[in-house]
Amino acid sequence: MEQRFFLIIAANTAQMLFADRVLKAEGINTQLVPAPPESGTVCAIAVKISQDDVEAAKRLIAVNSVEVTHILEDKRMKLQGLLDEKLAQGITEDFLRILERIESGQELDRSDILYLLSTQREKEINTIFSAADRIRKETVGDAVEIRGAIEFSNYCRKDCSYCGIGSSNKCVKRYSMSEEEIMEAVHSVKAMGMKTVILQSGEDSRWDTPRLVRLVERIRNETGMKITLSVGEKSREEYEQLRNAGAVNFLLKIETTNRDLFARLHPDDDYDHRLQCSLWLKELGYLNGSGNIIGLPGQTLDDIAGDILYFKEMGINMIGIGPFIPAEGSRLENHPTGDIDLTLRVVAVTRIVCKRVYIPSTTALASLDKDAQVKALQAGANTIMLINTPERYRKSYNIYNNKNMVDMASAAYAAEKAGRPLPSYIVWQAVNPGHECIVG
Ligand code: SF4
Repeated sequence: MEQRFFLIIAANTAQMLFADRVLKAEGINTQLVPAPPESGTVCAIAVKISQDDVEAAKRLIAVNSVEVTHILEDKRMKLQGLLDEKLAQGITEDFLRILERIESGQELDRSDILYLLSTQREKEINTIFSAADRIRKETVGDAVEIRGAIEFSNYCRKDCSYCGIGSSNKCVKRYSMSEEEIMEAVHSVKAMGMKTVILQSGEDSRWDTPRLVRLVERIRNETGMKITLSVGEKSREEYEQLRNAGAVNFLLKIETTNRDLFARLHPDDDYDHRLQCSLWLKELGYLNGSGNIIGLPGQTLDDIAGDILYFKEMGINMIGIGPFIPAEGSRLENHPTGDIDLTLRVVAVTRIVCKRVYIPSTTALASLDKDAQVKALQAGANTIMLINTPERYRKSYNIYNNKNMVDMASAAYAAEKAGRPLPSYIVWQAVNPGHECIVG
């Protein structure tokens, strides 16, 4: 019989994370996922458990006085109406079979995904984008979640081929922000109403784990914000210390699941160790972020199909998909830029396969074309990350050339043009008084 899953939704994030810890401590397998729009919360998180654990979870919730507002079945998603007679005339037998699987909520396999990534038939491509947009709407709703990123250090001990701040790049002006500078930036993110701050850096020994723990604790205590870390590979104990300090999300991208390509791009990294880090993050109850780059040298569509299956099978909650953009001074500085249309297609197929996940409309897309961020929102994406690094450091966090400094005005432009609301928590008047936008 098919396994059924349920979503537990608590009164607030603190209670949700408390529920997750309580259930995990009793051996219940949990996964943190975006809450469904019908729960009434904007881009909050839910705890997903299997049907077999529902009764035990209810008992633990009662004993520990967790404030739970809903327990809903996470129903297998069916998309009626994708197929109609008119459409059926212009598509292949293979596409028809895949559509039937999407309509009936069945999982797609690697060959299905590869077909969706490679078809050149206009009718089929349009259907892929409209299916992704419907799945995005039904799983995570219309509001575009906005997060603020602070790139607090561009020192890095590693030297990934595609990266503009790798250790061997001598053209980079290095900086490492002080705790006070970071706190000032965090407070400005909070003043705009944002609920989540992303702290991103290279692997910088100046910011070792004890120092990061103190920073995370300070941000939690002073602002109550949700904290996402993107600071690279660490030991399980270090990830645990940061989790206990209050970090909720961790972004550690795989970039590619082709082992040979991964090895060629990452002279300092081991593929299996990267997987192990992701598994630790998942075990520790982080909202686990990953992502890939589209247009890497030698990358095939089959590799990308493998990436999408990896996101699904690893239970990744946040998936950043960006086109390759060359970075001056990196070993790939002369490799051509990744294709925007293919990147948008990967966003759409990832939404169809992974369903209830956060997918950003990435800064890399915005860097190539202002309207690519709009198109990504229409292709299944539901979040935008602003760059809140202080002006004096921004240009030095040059992970690729001409990086767009996405700000609130450009995020509002993308949301508005895609016909989507910004969440009601954004303090729009404080950002751009007098401008009208949709707030949902
Ligand atoms: S991709 Fe990350 S780990 Fe690799 S060189 Fe750049 S900042 Fe360092």
